Amino acid sequence: MPYDYDDQNIFAKILRGEIPNKTICETEHTLAFHDIRPQAPVHVLVIPKGAYVNADHFGAEASEAEIVDFYRTLAKLSADLGVAPGTGGAGYRVIGNAGPDSHQEVPHFHMHILAGRSLGAMLVHPA
Ligand code: AMP
Repeated sequence: MPYDYDDQNIFAKILRGEIPNKTICETEHTLAFHDIRPQAPVHVLVIPKGAYVNADHFGAEASEAEIVDFYRTLAKLSADLGVAPGTGGAGYRVIGNAGPDSHQEVPHFHMHILAGRSLGAMLVHPA
């Protein structure tokens, strides 16, 4: 099934400069900015500049340059934010939602970096 990218999603508008964002860093293929509703002391979104819906779309169709740039940016950012265990940080969680079961809100691929406190169990199960 082909991926259907909606270019009116909020991150597409951010990339086109139509709405503001709190940018942390930008590279040729990647943008990182603060989440507007932070759920931890550190809550950063990392997005490719290309039009990809989710992680499987990105992994399947992005160029090697885009994929390398995305993950190198994520790694550098986690170190720069002081949360990467490899550089003495206390750790972080990366979350990438995809599709309805994940409750993905914005249909442009993004990874959340959450950190700055103990994040508890990975999933909260219903009672
Ligand atoms: P997801 O449910 O994985 O699609 O997450 C989307 C995230 O985008 C949520 O954490 C929102 O708080 C965040 N978000 C929505 N609009 C904006 C915006 N204009 N700037 C920054 N973050 C946003």
